[in-house]
Amino acid sequence: DKLLSTPRKDQKPSLNSVFCRAFALFPSNSVHLYLTFHPIVSEIQIVPKAPAAAKHQPGVAQLPPDIRAVSGAGYPKQTKTMLSTLRGRSQQFLARSARVRQARLFSRSLPCLWDLAEYRQHVAERAAEGVVPKPLAPEHVADLVELMKNPPAGEEATLVDLLSNCVPAGVDQAAYVKASFLTSIVKGDISCSLVDKKAAVQMLGKMVGGYNVLTLIELLDSPDLAPLAAAELKNITLMFDSFYDVEAKAKAGNAHAKEVIQSWAEGEWFTSTPEVPEKITVTVFKVTGETNTDDLSPAPDAWSRPDIPLHAKAMYKHPREGFTNAEEKIEELKQKGHPVALVGDVVGTGSSRKSATNSVLWYTGDPIPGVPNKKSGGVCIGGKVAPIFFNTMEDAGALVFECDVNQLNMGDVIEIQPYAGKIVKDGEVVSDFALKSDVLLDEVRAGGRINLIIGRGLVTRARESLGLPPSTLFRTPAEPEDTGKGYTLGQKMVGKACGVEGVRPGTYCEPRMSTVGSQDTTGPMTRDELKDLACLGFSADLVMQSFCHTAAYPKPVDVNTHSTLPDFIRTRGGVALRPGDGIIHSWLNRMLMPDGVGTGGDSHTRFPLGISFPAGSGLVAFAAATGVMPLDMPESVLVRFSGKMQPGITLRDLVNAIPYVALKRGLLTVEKKGKKNVYSGKIVEIEGLPDLKVEQAFELSDASAERSAAGCTIRLNKEPIMEYLTSNVTMLRWMLEQGYGDPRTIERRCRAMEDWLANPVLLEPDSDAQYAEIIEVDLNEIKEPLLACPNDPDDIKSLSELQNTKVDEVFIGSCMTNIGHFRAAGKMLQLSKGTLPTRLWICPPTRMDQYQLTEEGYYGIYGAVGARTEMPGCSLCMGNQARVQSKSTVVSTSTRNFPNRLGDGANVFLSSAELAAISSILGRLPTPEEYLSYATQIDTMATDVYRYLNFNEIESYQKAAAAGKLQMQDAL
Ligand code: SF4
Repeated sequence: DKLLSTPRKDQKPSLNSVFCRAFALFPSNSVHLYLTFHPIVSEIQIVPKAPAAAKHQPGVAQLPPDIRAVSGAGYPKQTKTMLSTLRGRSQQFLARSARVRQARLFSRSLPCLWDLAEYRQHVAERAAEGVVPKPLAPEHVADLVELMKNPPAGEEATLVDLLSNCVPAGVDQAAYVKASFLTSIVKGDISCSLVDKKAAVQMLGKMVGGYNVLTLIELLDSPDLAPLAAAELKNITLMFDSFYDVEAKAKAGNAHAKEVIQSWAEGEWFTSTPEVPEKITVTVFKVTGETNTDDLSPAPDAWSRPDIPLHAKAMYKHPREGFTNAEEKIEELKQKGHPVALVGDVVGTGSSRKSATNSVLWYTGDPIPGVPNKKSGGVCIGGKVAPIFFNTMEDAGALVFECDVNQLNMGDVIEIQPYAGKIVKDGEVVSDFALKSDVLLDEVRAGGRINLIIGRGLVTRARESLGLPPSTLFRTPAEPEDTGKGYTLGQKMVGKACGVEGVRPGTYCEPRMSTVGSQDTTGPMTRDELKDLACLGFSADLVMQSFCHTAAYPKPVDVNTHSTLPDFIRTRGGVALRPGDGIIHSWLNRMLMPDGVGTGGDSHTRFPLGISFPAGSGLVAFAAATGVMPLDMPESVLVRFSGKMQPGITLRDLVNAIPYVALKRGLLTVEKKGKKNVYSGKIVEIEGLPDLKVEQAFELSDASAERSAAGCTIRLNKEPIMEYLTSNVTMLRWMLEQGYGDPRTIERRCRAMEDWLANPVLLEPDSDAQYAEIIEVDLNEIKEPLLACPNDPDDIKSLSELQNTKVDEVFIGSCMTNIGHFRAAGKMLQLSKGTLPTRLWICPPTRMDQYQLTEEGYYGIYGAVGARTEMPGCSLCMGNQARVQSKSTVVSTSTRNFPNRLGDGANVFLSSAELAAISSILGRLPTPEEYLSYATQIDTMATDVYRYLNFNEIESYQKAAAAGKLQMQDAL
């Protein structure tokens, strides 16, 4: 307040006065303030000088109207408090000063580049595609405002409807223009015949959070509008630091502010919504067999994911039993007069796609007031519901549960009794169920788990402010009994992130997020979710964005993402890779801290160090924005390797051994109906291979995604981790020198790694830790390669059962590979005579691997045999770029072989790179004897072949890293 105060109420603070006061308020050597000017909005950057002076980052002036984020992570507590205060103040200052400009802008008449005729044409074009129009872009909202100032006769209602219902909420730039316009009205800077002051306040109140909040808080001092503003604020939960502004007003005696705080304390935002009814009648949309997220949100249609209505049309694009067109079928079912529920035997396996949830809810959910083209709610019932999909549905406010679905058929009208746990059809109970937790009922009522968590936090803050005891309004998860036993490694890692020794399975917790990853096909949706959360700066310690899914064959929409998303991430304190850099995990893994906890919007975000719980983009945005993640701690399954690795056996065979052994023990079934999966929803904790390099360990953790596991830990010795981190510090400082942002985030992570290396201590599981199951894998018994058969990663068979199967195409690439695999493949290919009888695809995971392989001459070998080399990235694995021939038989090193993923109707075997290379030479799967004769030759060269990239040993990286270190020596 001191920073922004002026002698007279109608005056605005000058920049000079802000500077002077800031330096008067803080010791002269404690902060730097940077102000940068931009035609649309100024930026203010406040950087603490701890331990030494920060450097201003050039280029800020080109940024969009976002406030440069100042993350408090890594600073001492006192500095964090200061940063938090300053960040809030700077945002207010910016909003205020921007509004002055906006008011001036709105007070003039500007020529419109867009009008209702163009909008109606857009509506007609979209209608021809069978979808609703898109929300308005910022420039369209600006033109809409111009039209509203001088409305064409007869168009008044349309204009008001567009402004009310077709502008995205949160911190979207379109919302910024809308909030500025409405603020100008309420402040009397301009008048509009269509929206009076009261209507403007109500419209601001429906904007969810973000740019509308400050105005509503200011209005608490308005003699005539304060009651209206208070009424709107009571229902806004995305307050973040703005809570303290309302609290300050309340403590200063503002009656309306007091009313708002009291309302928050009593949770009126929640109690004003209806409870989940005792009985819910729905019509069943039954999908037999397995529905994976690729069925709901196909990879080749990934480009349209942010356009929810359009993308939803691709749901179940391949015909299923009982329907060929899902949209038409659902419409037909809706004619029975009830909402439609998705019911399936197995639902939501595969990737962590928020887009899958978005598509389901587009047809089965309810509109969200103030948020165009997005829905929440809905009902989803599965014999099995994959955990990540379950959580994503939960986040979106769906009533989701597992039960026996055998009696539920397409078109049945059923009555769900959520409290009694019964499904009634034709007057008879046909299935019983138990909700995962009663908290789900509150989540549904609040419009989603994230809404509930944020709202509950607001209630707690308000009650603390009023000195009230904790609220009893919300259902609380049942605390599991303390067994008094020890903790597993995963339980200790999560415990550390929660500030306790360990976390028992079944406990609800909110671990701190050390690392968050986002890839490009979910990135734009994560961006939308961050805007909806009004996020202007990340609280997670490190957030990284990649472009591995779309870089090689981008569509226009991808090119736009490549140019806009990096700034969005960097201005919030994140790190953004570049198109062509390679696969998200191969980079993100190099940024991990031992024993840290994180998440990512890619279901293969499976840390080889620490633990991650991959999630949909909504939860990933929440984790990045708030620095914590809601988690119901899963149980653990221990996978224990013992014995000696047999000749010719690779790590990929051990990956496949994990389901293979479970299949043999009857703990896993391939059949979808009544499917058993011991790993589903559990943390897979792997022991017995402590000397693996971290790159190798990732092969094992990565594949826990195919097991539908919630997470994975690998117990490694200190030595490989020290080697990896030493290399990674060099790589990260090389990134600094190469201009990857955000520099302070990268440098902070380097220093954290150096601190760990100075005192390398790892968590260990307790010897009496309890596991839901223990799977023993005896290496002595794995004597020949194991492959996943078409088209199910769980359907594992030995090579001798599959030998001589004809092969058309071979793919060596994906995050399951590292540089060693490409050398091994190259050595094998050197043994081939002439060109290959198959089409061979080679795609190294990162551009550093590609460079090194080129330097070592391997690209010459690939070229000589006619292999097709691809830009580093996901390539065929993602299925949205180049594809294999329809109905071909493929051997692939990629992660999963779901139907149609690599090519339409393709039959895909998943194997090691070594076996894939031999198959490409032979045009068929080898016999075990043939395989061994090739593999033995590689074994003799193993130390040369399986060498990993140690950046600290490569001169060019050393030099760049030294320069990067110098650049940042005074930064933190
Ligand atoms: S390589 Fe495949 S599994 Fe790995 S990140 Fe890319 S698409 Fe996902």
